[in-house]
Amino acid sequence: MKEKKRSVKPFFTQYRGRFAPSPSGELHFGSLLAAMASYADARSQNGLWLLRIDDIDQQRVIPHSDQHIVQSLEQIGFQWDGEISYQSQCISNYEEALEKLIQMGLVYPCHCSRKQIKVLSHDGVYSGTCRHRIIKKNFFHHSLDKNSALRLKVNSDKLFFSDEIQQNCQQNLAREVGDFVIFRRDQVFSYQLSVVVDDYISQISHIIRGFDLLDSTARQIYLQQQLGYPTPKYAHIPLAVNEKQIKLSKLSQAKKIKSNLSTLISAAQFLGQSIMTDKDYDKIEDFWQHLFLIWDINKISKMEKKEIMV
Ligand code: GLU
Repeated sequence: MKEKKRSVKPFFTQYRGRFAPSPSGELHFGSLLAAMASYADARSQNGLWLLRIDDIDQQRVIPHSDQHIVQSLEQIGFQWDGEISYQSQCISNYEEALEKLIQMGLVYPCHCSRKQIKVLSHDGVYSGTCRHRIIKKNFFHHSLDKNSALRLKVNSDKLFFSDEIQQNCQQNLAREVGDFVIFRRDQVFSYQLSVVVDDYISQISHIIRGFDLLDSTARQIYLQQQLGYPTPKYAHIPLAVNEKQIKLSKLSQAKKIKSNLSTLISAAQFLGQSIMTDKDYDKIEDFWQHLFLIWDINKISKMEKKEIMV
């Protein structure tokens, strides 16, 4: 008898983008670029756009900065779909994913200090000193060892992916990164694990973010593969740097953006879009409608960084 063909439903049935700022300061021009690129790309394809606050690392959280970021986004006309999500409220999702990786035999405790890692690692690649260690059963729930991080074993396959802006990318995790931390020594889930889980739970189909995160992408795809998650499309935009070529960030004391049309126009210009001048738009909504119409991701520069004049 002929077997009935099963139809496999695609995981991503609609475009779902997101912006995921860390609440460690105000919204500055560098983060506005990631917000704008992800928003315009989503809306130009009739997609949804979600807002998530990446507050897993409570040590880095600056009180109320999430509210300031949200306010700034609102003032310049961003409209997200659904409720804002917070990583700090999703810990059980990360625990579940970690448990799955432990069951698969891919996780081991690492007792190395930062100093030891520095001495033993070649080019920052973890040398695998603790790879022989076995994780105790129910390690995570019952015998959390306050002195160890948890690392994920990687393999030596080359990982290829195509970035919508940076095009063909590849990384050999074993050679270029080594087994990486998914649960930190200070008992915090790592950035890599938490974003992979969050993006999966929210069914994010497109991730557009700054070039500095391109280097994390292979690790995130590897995690998706181990956890059986689909891989979204990635695009990495150039970083905005000041005249000293330093990335605009909270660390470089980048200023809070001015919530006006000229800021939006500067950001759209930085992203290579054929936008008009501020005199051509009566209000902020007109700017957005025009940007959604003319948005072309191919116009974004492939460069790693670009100087800004604001
Ligand atoms: N929360 C991260 C940041 O602010 C971004 C996460 C991501 O886009 O993957 O740098």
